[in-house]
Amino acid sequence: MRYFCRKGRHFSANRKSNGIATLWRTRSIILGISYRYFRQDKRDYPYMLQNQFQIVYFEATRRCNLRCPSCMTGSNEPRKVRRRVRSELTLEEIRDRILLPARRLGVHTVGWSGGEFLLRKDALDLLRLTVELELECSVLSNCKALTRKRLEKIQDVTRGRAKIIVGMNALDEGNRWSRDNDSDRSIQVLEDCAELGLGRHVVITIGKYNTESFEKTVDYIVKNSISYNRSPLVARGSGSQCFEQMGFDRNDLEKYFHPALRRNPHGYVSYTPFFLSPELHEQASGGIRNNTIPENPAIGCWAGSWLAINAEGDVSVCPVLLDVLNAGNVREQPLDELVESSSLFADITDRSRLKGRCGRCRYQYTCGGCRAMAYFHTGDYMGDDPTCFFDPVDRSTVSEHEEETNRNFKKYLLVARAAGVYKPPGDRPSGRSPLPTEKGKC
Ligand code: SF4
Ligand code: SF4
Repeated sequence: MRYFCRKGRHFSANRKSNGIATLWRTRSIILGISYRYFRQDKRDYPYMLQNQFQIVYFEATRRCNLRCPSCMTGSNEPRKVRRRVRSELTLEEIRDRILLPARRLGVHTVGWSGGEFLLRKDALDLLRLTVELELECSVLSNCKALTRKRLEKIQDVTRGRAKIIVGMNALDEGNRWSRDNDSDRSIQVLEDCAELGLGRHVVITIGKYNTESFEKTVDYIVKNSISYNRSPLVARGSGSQCFEQMGFDRNDLEKYFHPALRRNPHGYVSYTPFFLSPELHEQASGGIRNNTIPENPAIGCWAGSWLAINAEGDVSVCPVLLDVLNAGNVREQPLDELVESSSLFADITDRSRLKGRCGRCRYQYTCGGCRAMAYFHTGDYMGDDPTCFFDPVDRSTVSEHEEETNRNFKKYLLVARAAGVYKPPGDRPSGRSPLPTEKGKC
């Protein structure tokens, strides 16, 4: 099996000394077979757990070539980064402790992020490995290192299956303030991707700096048929220095961000408040686990629907909660075992335990409130989302935006189906296909 062998640089070096190489290869094959037998084939997760986690978001390095002032991984502080780089997971650890366990959990896509992921020397090897494991891959980049030549290389090693995710907060100078880069560079990369036939997605980090420009940014993205999601500015890493001043509040959300978000189904990814009728979601999904967190497709707050991992191997329920709210480390337990035994994942996926307005709301399950906003504003990740502008008396209070959300959700189902994250009832996933066999590999 290709991924149990020492391919590439390390293996080539070993191969030069024949005896050691043969021994190493034999050991790899034996370990590979026993690993597969005991850990792969024998672990058979129930359908529910296997289909809960579709995406791994992995910040594989903290190194970066930009200095964004609110960087949540703290990559704008070179001294701290240098100290932590020594603890970054290696390719072998990533393969054995994250990718193979993720596959057993039914994960569909790995999103490679940073820092700037492309600064890892083994970035292309990791992308190649992802595709060999039959996982889809996305590359989140600040675009500085993403030349046309680099894009072609990524296209080549992923057999054209990579999606490029670009961080772009505004089309105007707001982008340079928050991203340390001009939006022209991001736009150029998006255009190059279109020409090369690579998938495209944009992440817009929202805060007070882009209230006015948000609608225009979304309009540009939608006009160019690109999917997107909003990510909140949070008090993680260097964000903690400007969160109070620059974090958005409920008025900003109601007046500036929410109207554009709810109008465009291409961005129905991880945002709150999400006023989807629970009955409609149950009907569309086939009722899978809708009394805990909504799946097939995931909607509202995605915490607990995806797996977020930092460069040192800590795991959390959402990327913006990494470093501050961790379920454990993959060096101690492989990802699947860690998630299965985590009390954080157990809590966050049980929305019947939400408190305050979120706990008495009709959208308790289909929205759930941004758990990160609850945590960063109140310290309680199961608390009320203070940025929500909806004030339900009880479960009978219906939002004036429900009808519009329901209408656009039906369109979103088509997008989600095409992206492989939604299957209509009667056409449910039956779990992962077996891993590629040794035949024809290595
Ligand atoms: S906590 Fe939920 S809504 Fe907030 S950013 Fe994370 S997944 Fe999105
Ligand atoms: S009160 Fe909570 S669950 Fe209800 S809409 Fe607002 S954020 Fe969502």
